[in-house]
Amino acid sequence: MSRLVYLDNNATTCVAPEVRDAMLPFLTDLWGNPSSMHAFGGRVMRHVEEAREKVAALIHADPSEIIFTSCGTESNNAAIYGVAEILGPQARLITSRVEHPAVLGPCRHFREHGHTVIELPVDGVGQVDLAALREALFGGHGLVSLMWANNETGTIFPIDEIAALVKSVGGVFHTDAVQAVGKVPLDVSRTPVDLLSLSGHKLHAPKGIGALYVRRGTRLKTYMIGGHQENGRRGGTENVPYIVGLGKAAELAAASLAGEAAHVAPLRDRLEAGLLATCPDARINGDTRHRLPNTLNISFEFIEGEAILYHLSDLGICASSGSACSSGSLEPSHVIRAMGVPFTAVHGSIRFSLSRYTTAADIDTVLDHVPRVVAKLRALSPFVTT
Ligand code: PLP
Repeated sequence: MSRLVYLDNNATTCVAPEVRDAMLPFLTDLWGNPSSMHAFGGRVMRHVEEAREKVAALIHADPSEIIFTSCGTESNNAAIYGVAEILGPQARLITSRVEHPAVLGPCRHFREHGHTVIELPVDGVGQVDLAALREALFGGHGLVSLMWANNETGTIFPIDEIAALVKSVGGVFHTDAVQAVGKVPLDVSRTPVDLLSLSGHKLHAPKGIGALYVRRGTRLKTYMIGGHQENGRRGGTENVPYIVGLGKAAELAAASLAGEAAHVAPLRDRLEAGLLATCPDARINGDTRHRLPNTLNISFEFIEGEAILYHLSDLGICASSGSACSSGSLEPSHVIRAMGVPFTAVHGSIRFSLSRYTTAADIDTVLDHVPRVVAKLRALSPFVTT
C-alpha cells in the first residue's frame, strides 16, 4: 500500500517516537503507584511532577496550577461543572455557537437546570461577536467559556481581549485551548484566563490524557471525588505512562513551536492556493488573518464533503468533513452553519490539518487528486446545471 497521507491532525495526531520512548519505562519497570510511601512509588511520583512542570512550562503556568485529566472533554467538563456549581444557578454561562460539543453539552446541561446560557453568534469567518459578549456580560456575569482556536476552521479568537473584558467585570474565564496548545504560543502569565483545557492526542501524546490549568485562587468544585491525588482536585490513581507522555509532548512542542509553524503554514498555504486555482467554486471557511498555521477548511460547492472524503480515503488520503465527533452523520457541521456559509457550500466542506510530520510530497499528492475527485463528483451532482 502506498504511504498514508495523513492530513487530519486536528482529529488526532500520531504519537511522537520520543513520547513513546519516554512512556515505555512506565509500562515496564517503573509501574509503582506514585502515592505509595515507599521509595519505588516516590521515584514514579518524581516523574509525574516533572511532567507537570513541562506542561506548565508550555503555557507559562506554575506546575501547581496543572491538574491531569483523562482528555480535553474531561477538562472542559471539569471547568464548567466546577465553576457553575460554585457560582450557583443565578450565574450566567456565556459561550459561543461554534464551541466543541464538550463545551456546548455541559453548558446546555446547566441550561436545563435553570442557568441562563448565552451562545454568542459568530460572523462569516467564524469570529465571535465581541459586542454581543459585552452585552451579555453587562446583563450579569458568571462563567465565560470561549475556545482559543476552532477545531474545524482554525479561526483564532482574540483571547487576550476577551479575557481582559471578562476579568474587567469580575467574571470567570475558561478557554478550550485543545486545538491551540502546541500550535501557537500561549502564555497564561500574560493572558488572564482562569481555566484552560488541553488534550494530549492533539500534540503527539496518546489519546486518553489531558490537563486543566486552574489559575491559583480560582474556586473550583471537585467533580471527581475520591482519593487525594492531584492535590485533592481530581481523585483517581494517576495514569503515569500517559502523564509522562504528555510531559514529553509538551517539552517537544515548546522546543519546536516556532519551527513547526514555519514548516506547516507554507505547506498549508500552498495547498490552499493550489486547490483554489484548480477547483472552481471553492471557498475558504475561517478567518485567514487569524488562523491556526496547520488548518485549512475549504468548501467545494454543489457536492458532498463526505463523498470527497470517501474518494480520498480510497487513495490513502485522510482528511475530515467536520469535527471528528460530528462526522459520520450527514448533518452539516454546526460551526459552518453558525458562520452562515451559503447552502450550496455548507455540505461540501473539507478540513485538511497538517502536522510537523507533513511533507511537501503529501501536499503534492493531495493537489494531484482533489481536483479530479471534485470534477468527477460535480459531473454527477444534480445541483450543477452548467
Ligand atoms: N475541544 C476541542 C476544540 C477539540 O477539538 C476536541 C477534540 O476534537 C476536544 C475539545 C475534545 O478533546 P478530547 O478528544 O481529548 O476529549
